[in-house]
Amino acid sequence: MKHITETFAPRLIKSRLVSSNASYDHHEDVVFCDDPVTGLRAIIAIHDTTLGPALGGTRIYPYANEADALRDVLRLSSGMTLKNAIANVPYGGGKAVIIGDPKTDKTPALLRSYANYINLFEGRFITGEDVGMRVKDADIINQVTPHIRGTSKGHAGDPSPYTALGVYAGIRAAVEHKFCGIGVHGLVISIQGLGAVGMALADHLHKGGAKLIVSDIRDDVLSEAQTRFGARIISPERAHAADADIFAPCALGGGLNRETIPEIRARIVAGSANNQLTTPEDGNRLQTYGILYAPDYVINSGGVISIAHDKPGFNARALRTHVIDIGDTLRQIFRTSEKNGTATAEIADQMARARLMPPDKRGCAA
Ligand code: NAD
Repeated sequence: MKHITETFAPRLIKSRLVSSNASYDHHEDVVFCDDPVTGLRAIIAIHDTTLGPALGGTRIYPYANEADALRDVLRLSSGMTLKNAIANVPYGGGKAVIIGDPKTDKTPALLRSYANYINLFEGRFITGEDVGMRVKDADIINQVTPHIRGTSKGHAGDPSPYTALGVYAGIRAAVEHKFCGIGVHGLVISIQGLGAVGMALADHLHKGGAKLIVSDIRDDVLSEAQTRFGARIISPERAHAADADIFAPCALGGGLNRETIPEIRARIVAGSANNQLTTPEDGNRLQTYGILYAPDYVINSGGVISIAHDKPGFNARALRTHVIDIGDTLRQIFRTSEKNGTATAEIADQMARARLMPPDKRGCAA
């Protein structure tokens, strides 16, 4: 039997048939972390470091098995490469997943063990919060490694308000493009999900004079939106079909698909949720229905921009300007999409990929 000591030495295991996985996209490194002492089982995926060290959060989730965790980390890490590139931050794409229930398995010993694995990358992987991880967990990880952002010692704090600010800037850009209008005054906006981002977005939109329709599975946040913004409530299942000018998905991904898109009455879809399109074809489908879609990883990049700024020399004004610039990136995407007749999601991917090429090969897209 393998001897297990209290001081298990972390080591990186690199293979396990990663390259045959359908979500594998020429990742630079995919490593499995197993610590029998603390029960840690994690996968760290570094997708692309062309633009700098890989930056991406750590998700703690009770995956049914290692294959599900691997699929998720491969997909999420390559998504971070595109997000960081389009957000103009000097970081590549990476992500990590810890297999476990955050309510029961997330012990300080497990988090410190995970931090030891992060240290093995010597700064090539920088992480932060994601589903299942909170600031206090980041603080524990920070006891062992400096390569974590979003701790209580950081400057930028919670990324959610910056994500909301970026979504608001993106909505204004979409309104300019689609309705030739300035600002959201008088527009009706259906927000699906009133969590950290959705509620902060509702506040911006309300202050901008929009009328709000809101949906959530939690009654307390619905009551809050009614009281604060005079919002009308709709069931979460019908949020996309609301009689609104704009639909803002701010809850879960996968909501835009062959069933929901034909029911959308809004002319703009712009919200914070990750992975909104169920399949890549749904980007084309939105275009066919005359709906302007703000690609999710562009409009929701305010959070990662805030994390990128969260370092010595932090400048709050520079961070805010950078987040509001998301509107300009979207204006460029909307114009190019209109000119080429290509879906906005595809244009965003082209722009992000062009930024990963050597300067002499980038062309106009970047
Ligand atoms: P959150 O957990 O604080 O809020 C999510 C809200 O959605 C909750 O109020 C929840 O009750 C509600 N919800 C869950 N299922 C729902 C359903 N079926 N219909 C309607 N509402 C439902 O999350 P958040 O931080 O506000 O993030 C929202 C979305 O934005 C997520 O997809 C997240 O991945 C994405 N995102 C967040 C950030 C960030 O900075 N927080 C950054 C980028 C992307």
